[in-house]
Amino acid sequence: MDIHEYQAKEILSNFGVAVPQGALAYSPEQAAYRAREMGGSRWVVKAQVHAGGRGKAGGVKVCDSDAEIQSATEGMFGQKLITHQTGPEGKGIYRVYVEAAVPIEREIYLGFVLDRASQRVMIVASGEGGMEIEDISAERPDSIVRATVEPAVGLQEFQCREIAFALGIASGMVQQMVRTLQGCYRAFRDLDATMVEVNPLVITGDGRILALDAKMTFDDNALFRHPQISELRDKSQEDPRESRAADRGLSYVGLDGNIGCIVNGAGLAMATMDTIKLAGGEPANFLDIGGGATPERVAKAFRLVMSDKNVQAILVNIFAGINRCDWVAEGVVQALRENPVDVPVVVRLAGTNVEEGQKILAQSGLPLIRATTLNEAAERAVAAWRSDMKTNSNLRAVQ
Ligand code: GDP
Ligand code: MN
Repeated sequence: MDIHEYQAKEILSNFGVAVPQGALAYSPEQAAYRAREMGGSRWVVKAQVHAGGRGKAGGVKVCDSDAEIQSATEGMFGQKLITHQTGPEGKGIYRVYVEAAVPIEREIYLGFVLDRASQRVMIVASGEGGMEIEDISAERPDSIVRATVEPAVGLQEFQCREIAFALGIASGMVQQMVRTLQGCYRAFRDLDATMVEVNPLVITGDGRILALDAKMTFDDNALFRHPQISELRDKSQEDPRESRAADRGLSYVGLDGNIGCIVNGAGLAMATMDTIKLAGGEPANFLDIGGGATPERVAKAFRLVMSDKNVQAILVNIFAGINRCDWVAEGVVQALRENPVDVPVVVRLAGTNVEEGQKILAQSGLPLIRATTLNEAAERAVAAWRSDMKTNSNLRAVQ
């Protein structure tokens, strides 16, 4: 789960990381009021969306008066901000953060990630702040400093000092850097984050080290033990298909193809998507309905998959190990009787009680396309999608 910049800054600041003074606003009037309240003569207004690259996309503006803040934010609220990280549909701006502008002397990149190879939290830093890490590693790989944290002892002060020296931080400011690194690390560890990124971390003209931008991502599977973090979830920033799925306890990732997938088990769902592609089709989604695959879950899955307007055929692929094919078949039949769908549905069942399952499907009277193997199922789904496209375009031609 992602959170907003202002939320990440509040969290990091509670862990001892210094951040600029700032306040949140939900309207242009409030943004201008926040600046007056804060005082000073120069502010930065920042669109709060779950994506980076806002600066280049017009989502970060430096303003010299509250009138300027009002007009700058009037152009932001309710708009979609499109950055290289949002995709072409962009993300809606419903909150802006107003910050006291700071005199930047140097920009540093600082990231905390999970390094799967070493199975450790890894710190990645570079003196080339402000640039995206992908660009830094392509253009200035030699500038990147890395350190891994030994979990038994945590991030050590000497490691922080080494990073500070490698970045060329003046000796009088090393202690601030140590505090910043340890604060970020503790926030990462204590809150089960999977990523903390401060880009840029700045050194100001008056000798302070401040997190000017902050991004945090949390492990969804650990949110249950951090209710205060779960509450920061902002559905306006999520793919609506994915938030509906999360609300229903289904694991769904929206994709761009036309063949909807309903599968039990993440591995089988991946294999199903691969096989669809191999058969010449494009999956519309990843969906793991879980081991249970009860009629209710199957019905929910159909509604979810059908809420994607691009879906022109559905492939149901269920392997019943602990489950039973006849129950799953009942579920499919019940779901389709209650909520008929207007696209071809291919069903492939395998495992326990498969014959009974097939019988239920055959006797249901529903226009289901049955398949025995996964290859066959994928080929039939692709063929059904192609002929469905043809029929529909013929229909359109007749109209
Ligand atoms: P991002 O583009 O989404 O990563 O947004 P950032 O918060 O990183 O802002 C982008 C850029 O705006 C930063 O790299 C800075 O160069 C600039 N910026 C942000 N805040 C300030 C500020 O307080 N003062 C000045 N001078 N520049 C700022
Ligand atoms: Mn940034």
